[in-house]
Amino acid sequence: MKVKYKCSRCGEIHDPQTLIYRCPCGGLLDIAEFDIDFPLDKIKQRTPSLWRYEEALPFSKSQQVTLGEGFTSMVTMDNSDNVFLKMDYMMPTLSFKDRGASMLITAAKALHVKRIVADSSGNAGTAIAAYAAKARIKCDIFVPASTSPNKLSQIKAYGAKLHLIPGTREDTADAAIKEVEASGSFYASHVYNPFFYQGTKTYAYEIWEDMNGNVPDAIIVPVGNGTLLLGTYYGFKDLHDKGLIPSIPKFIAVQAEGCAPLFKAFQSGAQEIEPLEPKETQAEGIAIANPARHHQILQVIKETGGEMIAAPEQKIEDARQELAYKGFFVEPTSAATYAGYLTYVAQQGNPIKNLTTVIPLCGAGLKAIK
Ligand SMILES: *Cc1c(COP(=O)(O)O)cnc(C)c1O
Ligand SMILES: [Zn+2]
Repeated sequence: MKVKYKCSRCGEIHDPQTLIYRCPCGGLLDIAEFDIDFPLDKIKQRTPSLWRYEEALPFSKSQQVTLGEGFTSMVTMDNSDNVFLKMDYMMPTLSFKDRGASMLITAAKALHVKRIVADSSGNAGTAIAAYAAKARIKCDIFVPASTSPNKLSQIKAYGAKLHLIPGTREDTADAAIKEVEASGSFYASHVYNPFFYQGTKTYAYEIWEDMNGNVPDAIIVPVGNGTLLLGTYYGFKDLHDKGLIPSIPKFIAVQAEGCAPLFKAFQSGAQEIEPLEPKETQAEGIAIANPARHHQILQVIKETGGEMIAAPEQKIEDARQELAYKGFFVEPTSAATYAGYLTYVAQQGNPIKNLTTVIPLCGAGLKAIK
């Protein structure tokens, strides 16, 4: 394998062949830096998928486990020429998680893994189940028992073994880790496994290519575990390190009011998050009470001069309706992102409307029907 893991705490390098999901010191694993390149003339001639950025990805063409994910279109909102919606719900499993799942399952296949275990609030599990099916790897998915029924049907449709866990999202993660440790399976976690972020980083590359080598002033990002936020940051950082963009956009991160541990930490300037009892939130996809990568997430928001927004619960359904009336049918978690954007505009005033901004629509409406 061309890349190695690097511990975010002690800096130790590990071979992915070890199949570990954390450093023995307890630190989270990242991917150690490797050589990348953006040969735009070649990229432009390739098929419209995230694998077109081949020279910036950790796997060769022959290793790819792909369902044609990525290169989603970006459309302007209303008649604005500077506020864009990026349509990540138009993916093989109908959410942005396909970016990460394609890369993660490509890694699992390259490591000759026979069985994987993953936990999720729904969409990551769905994506991982689909790519595992494509790679013919056995797959067990753990989700909270309260997950939207359509997501459960979709996971089962791919042939994954589904485990419904009563209690919180954290109880689900604990059950999955227990199974990983008992069975010696590969932990295909979108939170812990750093290959996932090698997929989500293409979100930034696509925005850059779509804007003809420019980047927006600000990007709005939903944040639960931070897989889109961190991946997008890594993507822009790659382009910046290569001298291809003058600066990295501001990250405006959105949590739902009912479960907003990062928002609270950011407001109070704390390095650590207060463990909180998750209240009810309609945004099930970002209901993460204790995100493992909270240090990294808060760092990105600070470093880019960004902001954290809490989307009011009572605005989420209205936001979903408003998007649908514009022709975009998304799940409540995605509507929360849009509600967050509207809250940000209301807080900061009209100048925000003049910034070039990208808002992701991450999950399709049919995933969560009332
Ligand atoms: C997973 C997901 C999110 C949040 O992503 P994180 O990686 O947990 O921050 C947001 N919206 C949708 C639709 C999702 O599926
Ligand atoms: Zn370590």
